[in-house]
Amino acid sequence: MLFGCCTNLIDLYKRTGVADKIFWDSRMTMIEPGGRRSVLAPSSLPAPMHGLPAILKARCYSLKDKLALIFAFTACMLGGKPDPSRSLLNWLETHLQTSGTLERFWRLVIASALNADLDQIGLPYAAKVIRELFLNSPQAGSMGMSTVPLSDLYRGAQEYIEARRGAIEFNQNVESAAWDSEANRWSIQTQEGEFVSEQMILALPFEATAKLLPNLPANAEAGQLAASLKSLEHWPICSVHLWFDREITELDHAVLLDRDIHWMYHKSRWQPLRDSKASYIELVVSASREFAALSRDQAIARATSQLAEFFPEVREAKLVKSALIKEMRATFGVPPKVDSARSSAISPWPNCFLAGDWTATGWPSTMESAARSGYLAAEALCRSLGDSRKILVPDLAPTGLMKLLG
Ligand SMILES: Cc1cc2nc3c(=O)[nH]c(=O)nc-3n(C[C@H](O)[C@H](O)[C@H](O)COP(=O)(O)OP(=O)(O)OC[C@H]3O[C@@H](n4cnc5c(N)ncnc54)[C@H](O)[C@@H]3O)c2cc1C
Repeated sequence: MLFGCCTNLIDLYKRTGVADKIFWDSRMTMIEPGGRRSVLAPSSLPAPMHGLPAILKARCYSLKDKLALIFAFTACMLGGKPDPSRSLLNWLETHLQTSGTLERFWRLVIASALNADLDQIGLPYAAKVIRELFLNSPQAGSMGMSTVPLSDLYRGAQEYIEARRGAIEFNQNVESAAWDSEANRWSIQTQEGEFVSEQMILALPFEATAKLLPNLPANAEAGQLAASLKSLEHWPICSVHLWFDREITELDHAVLLDRDIHWMYHKSRWQPLRDSKASYIELVVSASREFAALSRDQAIARATSQLAEFFPEVREAKLVKSALIKEMRATFGVPPKVDSARSSAISPWPNCFLAGDWTATGWPSTMESAARSGYLAAEALCRSLGDSRKILVPDLAPTGLMKLLG
């Protein structure tokens, strides 16, 4: 899933010719066990009030919850620069949040978007999500989903590279790299052989970067990078895929309240290659180490029985096929002070640049952060050759009254 505020990812999709494969929706349907629905969607009011009528109408929040949310959003808007040493939980404790907003908004929407527990989220990252998804503009908060499998979505990137005389070598694990200062080039060793290059961008996950470090030239900055990487931590995401013999709901996607399963994506409704008379559902469980510890059968049984509490048709439908995908190292956490561990694109070595969602993009662990990191590494590489071009796409400008708040 992406959002309208993901300007660099959208730019990447445009460059690679797949932007029309994204299905956009600005409605977020929140469902309580038993089936009662509330819809968060923008109104025609100017930002930041565009979301207010829907919050006031939402039946999943009590009056006290709604006042608490409005208070927190206002504090987030007017509170100045968020303190990077403070956790979201600590901030919520001093901003009069109710058990309803903690469970049904902060844990469900914000903590699951950032894929970590509330006490493990640095305040600036939570504030960024709130501003982008709920305050800056209706366009920034709009949700995008791929209408094709991700392998098809990213095939455009391969065509883009090959059309520019580049090549992709699949299944090449980089094992070491050495800098030849006389020839001014890198020799990169993989299990299959050697590649030689004047420039190198390392775009690996943070653990893979840490694992490669002992096999790169040693220097003091490389030691500091190794120490920073040690402080980053991964969080799990589980997705349960269920194929039913009939359509179990008319909703395209939903947020499911008060249970382990958080996000429901009804992919057969917006992926044309699927059978539209049956339901192919993906259920996502974020930041839950308890759910990730379940066996395949336990996880699928629990997810299916919880889904039936929201959509009773599940009890009548036949489950034709199911799958569990557990990604124990799905995303890295953004706890307080995490920015001191995120490296810029400048590496400790000559003609080498760093990319990957974990580098210093200002964004949490997302595809947008990955796209930004690639653009920043490309800018740094161009700068090293005396070319000062800008590649990074600016943020979406706030609209309405949010323009006054910058
Ligand atoms: C289950 C799941 C759901 C997610 N959902 C979302 C979502 O809805 N929205 C969103 O924005 N983000 C989501 N994310 C996060 C998003 O996928 C990541 O932030 C993004 O893929 C990071 O991109 P990257 O290029 O930095 O790293 P990666 O995508 O991890 O790419 C790094 C690549 O390096 C390769 N590699 C590793 N070691 C070596 C080596 N030694 N030599 C050569 N290659 C190597 C890896 O195989 C991998 O292909 C999700 C992640 C997971 C796991």
